[in-house]
Amino acid sequence: MNRRDEISSNLEHVKARIAKAAQASGREVDEITLIAVTKTFPVSDVEILRDLGVSNFGENRDGDGAAKARSVDGTWHFQGQIQSNKLKSITSWANVIHSLDELKHFVAIEKFAPHPLEIFCQVSLDGSLGRGGVASDNLYELAAAIEKSSHHRLIGLMAVAPLGLAPSEAFSKLALIHKAFLADFPKANKLSAGMSGDFEEAIAHGATHIRIGSSILGSR
Ligand SMILES: *Cc1c(COP(=O)(O)O)cnc(C)c1O
Repeated sequence: MNRRDEISSNLEHVKARIAKAAQASGREVDEITLIAVTKTFPVSDVEILRDLGVSNFGENRDGDGAAKARSVDGTWHFQGQIQSNKLKSITSWANVIHSLDELKHFVAIEKFAPHPLEIFCQVSLDGSLGRGGVASDNLYELAAAIEKSSHHRLIGLMAVAPLGLAPSEAFSKLALIHKAFLADFPKANKLSAGMSGDFEEAIAHGATHIRIGSSILGSR
């Protein structure tokens, strides 16, 4: 099978699983945005995805993301750990940031970003900082700072299921955090959750943005 057929077949399979998961929880498929996570894969794969109709792409590293976003039009999502010295560059090519978890990074975004960004605050579901995310104590302060911005828009919360916690437990916890959060930030109604290994559980718990790499592009 050539690369295009391989990616096309994987993509169709993932879309069918998304449709099934949405239906199982009484949700509409079109309220779920599929982000193809292209990290570590070549720009030729991103072009294939674009030709197959994908328009949302995710990257974890500034250098790779910048190069691919220059080559392929689309909505570019940054979901990696943020390093202060890379932030200015990240804001030059990313349209959406999923992994904001520090106030000082938002201060830098306000200063440097050349265009408006949509932002998810990443929350930690286990209190550890291993997989990124703001502890719930600091979440509201961070969110309030974004809401005050006249350029950037807080659109929701993001999380990665912690190792050692069943995805369904992790995402039900996330759904509770989000529900409480919405009382103060009603416009932040998006939920970025779910990767190749757990997106069905994430959809069952309300994910609106799922970030899928290996199920579409193969193992890294
Ligand atoms: C790599 C990555 C993904 C995609 O993971 P897959 O298991 O390949 O689907 C999604 N979200 C984040 C934050 C990632 O780092």
